[in-house]
Amino acid sequence: MNEYFDVVVCGGGTSGIPAAISAARNGMKVALIEKSSGLGGSNTNAMVSPLMTFHAGEKQVIRGIAQEIVDRLSERSATPGHVRDTIGMVSTITPIDTEALKMLYFEMLSAEPNISVLLGSPITKATVKQNAIQSITVSGRYGKIVISGKTFIDATGDGDIINLSKENYVMGRTKDGMSQPMSLMFKVSGVDLQKVRDYISNNPEQFIWNSQCSVDEYLGVSGFFSHVKRAQENGDLTIPRDRVLFFQGLVDGEVTVNMTRVIKLSAVDAYDLTKAEFEGHAQVDETVRFLKKYIPGFENCRLQAVANSIGVRESRRLSGTYTLTANDVINNQQFDDSVAVCAFPIDIHSPDGSALDWERNERFGCFDIPYRTMLPKKVTNLIVTGRCISATHEALAAARISATAMALGEAAGLACAMSVKEDVDVGKINVGALQKNLLKQGAIAGKKYV
Ligand SMILES: Cc1cc2nc3c(=O)[nH]c(=O)nc-3n(C[C@H](O)[C@H](O)[C@H](O)COP(=O)(O)OP(=O)(O)OC[C@H]3O[C@@H](n4cnc5c(N)ncnc54)[C@H](O)[C@@H]3O)c2cc1C
Repeated sequence: MNEYFDVVVCGGGTSGIPAAISAARNGMKVALIEKSSGLGGSNTNAMVSPLMTFHAGEKQVIRGIAQEIVDRLSERSATPGHVRDTIGMVSTITPIDTEALKMLYFEMLSAEPNISVLLGSPITKATVKQNAIQSITVSGRYGKIVISGKTFIDATGDGDIINLSKENYVMGRTKDGMSQPMSLMFKVSGVDLQKVRDYISNNPEQFIWNSQCSVDEYLGVSGFFSHVKRAQENGDLTIPRDRVLFFQGLVDGEVTVNMTRVIKLSAVDAYDLTKAEFEGHAQVDETVRFLKKYIPGFENCRLQAVANSIGVRESRRLSGTYTLTANDVINNQQFDDSVAVCAFPIDIHSPDGSALDWERNERFGCFDIPYRTMLPKKVTNLIVTGRCISATHEALAAARISATAMALGEAAGLACAMSVKEDVDVGKINVGALQKNLLKQGAIAGKKYV
């Protein structure tokens, strides 16, 4: 790896992989550096599924490499594709087999000769001279490796490169700096889904439900409020959660549960993160016991798999050239320098309680994400993508979603390629040309292109 790269993508997750592919397909020599031994980030290591969301109402707002990933999963029978969201939070969700996604990413990256992948390699240092990153350093049991490049992409989710290059960032909500909770995802098998469907039909008041959907569709379930309350009153459920939230899996009787909630800990502090993993695992145990005892259809369920690592919704966020706001989300804002679209509402899992709040003006609307949210104020050759872009706590609660992270990654990779080819800072590329090039490679650069 002691080579010089055009584009160094830091983090091989949801956003980093499309970033690397996009740069490589534009002729760049790319390094993709990942701290874990696997690829895919939150969607694989943290078991986050389904992907959300490719549609605003009837209109598809995310295509490009993100759609290519879905198509290739579909060829492996590892997704039913985009299906209606029975919860009604978004118009479509895209259930995926997260194990198949791991396989697919290895296959996709093997087919890209311009990408050199380095796994098991946490980036611990960035060397910056005259406001430009010269190199990053990874540290492992093998010692240290220095990787130099012309441009860098922070796709670490946690904004590690923002931090290491001494760019400005913020964490948490304005009033107290607290971030959204972390959640350890898990799968259970042996669920009698017909019993769940019957229960929903007979007790609709217990659920957040999309009235246009039938209970026979692919199931996303948000509810069982009174069951959760009763279990909490009985002392059988202590986690700060007001509902059961799960999604049907691709195998009969299997569901992915998004219920654990670890609050008031920092995802970028090793001691806190360790504590969060311990708390998360204890919560999984407790939740499975609760599901078996209280939820119709789960009586004989069995813990099938627990995510390799706890999922982090929010940590460092860039203080960039433009900061996306709640108003931008709520008003479905369009921007001249849009590079991707997001059709997810503001979805705040309370940092200090049990609530889950959604906010959206026009149901199933969408907003643009401007290129400036990816641009630091000082460092001239760094683009930030995924869930550490410049957004307020509230706006990130919408923009952090997987399909949008993939679309942002594709834009970041292309923007770096243009910066290298034109020999200009990443902030000086022609954004109109970036949008046109995104469209050429099959992506959607903003609402006006939908
Ligand atoms: C519990 C939970 C539930 C969610 N539910 C949904 C959902 O239902 N649908 C949906 O679409 N989205 C959901 N999301 C949001 C979504 O999964 C994430 O916001 C998105 O995947 C983030 O993408 P990313 O590329 O920014 O980060 P990641 O996918 O996390 O990728 C970051 C990568 O960088 C690597 N990395 C980090 N630091 C370093 C370093 N120093 N050196 C090298 N590598 C590093 C990591 O190992 C990782 O592979 C959920 C998130 C969580 C946590």
